[in-house]
Amino acid sequence: MSSQNGIEPNSYIIRTFGCQMNVHDSEHIAGVLEEAGYSRAANVGEAEIIIFNTCCVRESAEDKVWGNLSAIQSDDTSRLVAVCGCMAESHGHKIIERSPVVDIVFGLDSLKRLPELIRRSRNGSICDLGDRDRASLDAVPSIQVRRLRAWVPVSYGCDNRCSYCVVPYVRGKERSRSPEAILSEVESLVGRGAVEVTLLGQNVNSYGRDLCPRASFAELLRSVASVPGIRRVKYETSHPRDLTDDILTVMAEMPQVCEHLHLPVQSGSDRVLEAMNRGHDRLFYIDRVRKAREMVKDLVISTDIIVGFPGETEADFSDTLDLVDAVGFDSAFMFIYSRREGTPAAEMADEVPAEVKSERFMRLSRLQDIKTSQSLGRLLGRSVELMVEGSARRGDYVVGRTRGNQVVLLPAGEAHVDSLVVAEVQKVGRHAARGEVREVLQACCPGRLSKG
Ligand code: SAH
Ligand code: SF4
Repeated sequence: MSSQNGIEPNSYIIRTFGCQMNVHDSEHIAGVLEEAGYSRAANVGEAEIIIFNTCCVRESAEDKVWGNLSAIQSDDTSRLVAVCGCMAESHGHKIIERSPVVDIVFGLDSLKRLPELIRRSRNGSICDLGDRDRASLDAVPSIQVRRLRAWVPVSYGCDNRCSYCVVPYVRGKERSRSPEAILSEVESLVGRGAVEVTLLGQNVNSYGRDLCPRASFAELLRSVASVPGIRRVKYETSHPRDLTDDILTVMAEMPQVCEHLHLPVQSGSDRVLEAMNRGHDRLFYIDRVRKAREMVKDLVISTDIIVGFPGETEADFSDTLDLVDAVGFDSAFMFIYSRREGTPAAEMADEVPAEVKSERFMRLSRLQDIKTSQSLGRLLGRSVELMVEGSARRGDYVVGRTRGNQVVLLPAGEAHVDSLVVAEVQKVGRHAARGEVREVLQACCPGRLSKG
């Protein structure tokens, strides 16, 4: 237990794991803390409060957090440790039992009370999750780290029940934000300099079905793309079953909507798709991709695939390879199936042995690497518009993203993070292309923005 030593902590750091929704939630955690007078520490060593915003979609994501927690010395009483995010929503107080260095476990719904929880934790560890089915960040302040691009959640939670997935249990039922709240947030972001907005939801396409009167994602997308000054509108994640022609029409008609679709397929086998409870079969998926490519010029399609779902046979896996080959995804996030307690798949027989899963994963990755580099090859010699998102692992490069979400690395001296540039693509590797800047469309403006 890291009970503080009587001195008020005032510097914090947030370690964020998992998806973009978590990255966005971390902007609100920063907003709540800074409004209460805390300031961001330059590094973990200097931070008096460490917040772990966690993910539990796969066991490996959880293991990373447990590893980080056990690296914190239990006799280090000078720091306060808080855990939030999907692991917190899933395990609650058990996190404190397993890792006594943790002072606070809080949920998205209790984020607004975080400064109070910090004060109260001086008297002992606290778990306050609130009500996950009601959690909303609408009136919660936030700090936007990048000025030119922003994430805007359109809905929270998920009403699907994919049999492998823990998200509906930890993020609660689907709640759409009102179109007015979303549009006014986008207008305010654009007013402060944002040119790119990514609309976020576990299943963005089902947006608005729970609202009265009902709203549709297609209408919302058109309204967001119509906000004066916006240049790039992206969105994720799409569910194949809910990707309507209306949405594709908006993509085709509105030049502000980027030519990118993240459309997880998960498996190419009808048998496995059914056991996953995805609500569509292989042919339906292929038909959606055909229609999307027909309607949206230069469309870039990425996907998610799970390898080694319980009962997946070699024939099922071949169907996945075959689908990947036939569709030719521009990129794919590939995962080894991870058993998640409490999900229907966790009770399914015929778990695929670990070595078979790894071997299949390697075969799938090799095939997708070829497809990814073929896709990047089509950029060669072309001029592309790039949002410079951050530094590359190799420090002398920065990462630029095309409108289609493809990665083009640029020499760090040529482009600043958080700027919009035009570059010419000159080289293509397995996972990224390289280019040279030809024009700066929008320069970065240093400084962070408070919202709300
Ligand atoms: N709502 C989004 C994201 C869900 S989590 C969607 O529907 O796509 C992101 C990805 O993690 C999923 O698409 C899936 O491919 C993967 N995933 C989810 N649960 C998993 C599990 N138990 N094992 C392995 N991968 C999983
Ligand atoms: Fe999980 Fe399926 Fe919902 Fe995505 S759509 S969050 S995979 S249950």
